[in-house]
Amino acid sequence: MEPTNRLYYDDSYLTQFTARVVAVGEYRGRPALALDRSAFYPEGGGQPADHGWLTDADSRQRWAVQDVQSDNGVVWHIMSDDEPLPTAGNSVIGQIDWTRRFDHMQQHCGQHILTAAFIATCNAPTVSFHLSERSVTIDLAISTLNDEQAQAAKAWANTAIWQNLPIQARFVTPTELAHIPLRKPPTVNEQVRVVSIGDIDHSACGGTHPARSGEVGAIAILGWSRQRGMIRVEFVCGGRVIAALHERDRAARGAAAVLSVGWTELPQAIARLQETQQALQRELTQTQRELDALRATQWYTQTPPVDGRRIVTVTLPTASIERLRSIAGFIAELPGGIAIVAGGTERVQIVVACAADTGADAREILAAGMSVLGGRGGGQMHLAQGGGGQPAALSAALAAMVERAHRD
Ligand SMILES: [Zn+2]
Repeated sequence: MEPTNRLYYDDSYLTQFTARVVAVGEYRGRPALALDRSAFYPEGGGQPADHGWLTDADSRQRWAVQDVQSDNGVVWHIMSDDEPLPTAGNSVIGQIDWTRRFDHMQQHCGQHILTAAFIATCNAPTVSFHLSERSVTIDLAISTLNDEQAQAAKAWANTAIWQNLPIQARFVTPTELAHIPLRKPPTVNEQVRVVSIGDIDHSACGGTHPARSGEVGAIAILGWSRQRGMIRVEFVCGGRVIAALHERDRAARGAAAVLSVGWTELPQAIARLQETQQALQRELTQTQRELDALRATQWYTQTPPVDGRRIVTVTLPTASIERLRSIAGFIAELPGGIAIVAGGTERVQIVVACAADTGADAREILAAGMSVLGGRGGGQMHLAQGGGGQPAALSAALAAMVERAHRD
């Protein structure tokens, strides 16, 4: 099949065109049409495919173009399988979804400019590029990026945008190509298309670009992170800068309203809130400790002594291991006190503590429980802890431990 005549090469602003259907077939299992000429951009070079519509010559029928892919020079327009498609030989009118395309042109061209900016300001070449529905990322071949470097690249890129530089796309001969300072070598050997943005960037590229850099509008860097030893920079261009601003504005104003401050005062307000929260947490921990000491004494006195020992068993499912240890410690400070304290919701945790005057070995008492539970543990003579095993066997394990504590 003849390669499709790609109309967007000469005019990236062309949104409507007429063409003839040359083939009706399938592309990866989905119904697809090939035309003799098309302004639809097929996915490639990091730029997503155009969407749009085809109508028949007398505008009676309209089909949605859901995806566009290129295969061996042929552009396939992937269609819904809901309705019968036009047949080969028929004329159709193609219509590009311009809102989507212009957004892609802004992001794609912005990427050319930001890539040039990172080379100019930090000597950091771009290795790969990805354009998603939300944002754009480039991976830079550097291992660190600081705030000043990112600011410098952003300022450089926005200056280049506002200089409103002319953008030219053309196919060049090998002789011409030899004289163009390309950013990186082309991936194709023949039919090399060079896109020049003023004199700041010359790239081999088959994508769609605006006529002047000013149409990119603005570039905002949203953030960056380390990815496989490189730096991934996330950014947005043009209309997406406004959308990102609105999104952040809504979030910031929402948070500010909750805290009853202006949005510029958010950092201080959050810092104050954190301080208060930390102070309250300290106070709560202290209060809980005091309360646990009182409870421990109460449980101890409620347990009748047998041969001078008071074996206190307590189950506190939501308590942390630190709290279980603390409670067991309080009980073991009292004369004849042996504490068997269990906790944990999904995984059983048990702490055993024995007062020195009992002569009992906490490890042996714990071991009696662990053999019933099927868990593991260990410790010292006066304090041992363990856990795991079958939670359903907890009460049987506690009974075995009490029995062992009496015997010892
Ligand atoms: Zn390009």
